[in-house]
Amino acid sequence: MRAEKIPVGILGATGIVGQRLIALLEDHPWFEVTEVAASDRSAGARYEEIVHWLLPSPIPERVRRLVVKDCAPPLDCRLVFSALPAEPAASVEPEFARAGYLVCSNASTHRLDPDVPLLIPEVNPEHLQALTHQRRRRGWERGFIVTNPNCSTIHLTLVLKPLMDRFGLRQVMVTTLQALSGAGYPGVTSLDIVDNVIPFIKNEEEKLETETRKLLGRWDGETFLFAPLRISAQCNRVPTLDGHLECVSLAFERTPTREELIEALATFASLPQRLQLPTAPSHPIVVREEADRPQPRLDRDVERGMASVVGRIRPCSILDYKMVILGHNTIRGAAGAALLNAELLVAQGWLS
Ligand code: NAP
Repeated sequence: MRAEKIPVGILGATGIVGQRLIALLEDHPWFEVTEVAASDRSAGARYEEIVHWLLPSPIPERVRRLVVKDCAPPLDCRLVFSALPAEPAASVEPEFARAGYLVCSNASTHRLDPDVPLLIPEVNPEHLQALTHQRRRRGWERGFIVTNPNCSTIHLTLVLKPLMDRFGLRQVMVTTLQALSGAGYPGVTSLDIVDNVIPFIKNEEEKLETETRKLLGRWDGETFLFAPLRISAQCNRVPTLDGHLECVSLAFERTPTREELIEALATFASLPQRLQLPTAPSHPIVVREEADRPQPRLDRDVERGMASVVGRIRPCSILDYKMVILGHNTIRGAAGAALLNAELLVAQGWLS
């Protein structure tokens, strides 16, 4: 435990991801929430008056009475988590970075910028080397932007990483069944989604196909070189509340046995586990052997929502293997991902 906690702010604090961040930061050993900010519809009100709180746990005491600020510097903190929609993030996040704040963003806006790390601490911590280049290129002295991937991409990539390292990956086909909370609040209208599946989520397939290749690629000192991997994605919105399910088929450079494949997944651990970061799951990938798992309602909270759960691993008659991946979309897929990124930044001395 640190002597003094690091003050942090949350941009977009009234939304689904913002609320998850507030809940995850309650009693955090390193950080404390000192600022909450949202749109001008909410600014000026006390948090408890304006938020439509969606989580089962109560609003943490220290946040309840904070006055919601505008999403503009200065805020009384050094690090901000951004849970803003893509459009306001385009100007607000660079404004904070320019003003010296460390920005850990959930928004898609800057994920593919050539000098912005798209980070999963277990997958590509070395991409943080780009931050020195980002500061120099943009003339930012103390601040910077680090992003976390899209909610489906995080779980897919966590599972692909140990497989790519051990066996080489050639092709990935993925079909997602994505929960309603992934659409933000109020999200999809009930008359559209009850008794239904919507086979389209705007920009989602492109994000899965592109972000995964950036994450599994490398930083060459000047830019990111994307992994030469073929990925085809199809994305569907389904009437579950939390937890994205992904049906995946894979082709390898060297086809593993089923035992080798399971061993590679189940034993995967990386830098956050070695550093024992507070939000890191002890097992980032959990393998289930039952015929009917993983399931969103039963498995999304494994490892406090920070793990990807894999099951139904079996041969594929077109590619080599197929499997089902399940992950919590607003915890590891969003708020928990940004928090783990921030923990890695602190552990590596980027805040000092
Ligand atoms: P959301 O529920 O719609 O919340 C949006 C938040 O941003 C609210 O606090 C809202 O404040 C604020 N906001 C909206 N327009 C603004 C503006 N012009 N200026 C300042 N603040 C503004 O969205 P969400 O699901 O939490 O998602 C937040 C971000 O995370 C998005 O970029 C999303 O793509 C990304 N993300 C979401 C998930 C997920 O599973 N939900 C997963 C990964 C990434 P008011 O309440 O005042 O309107």
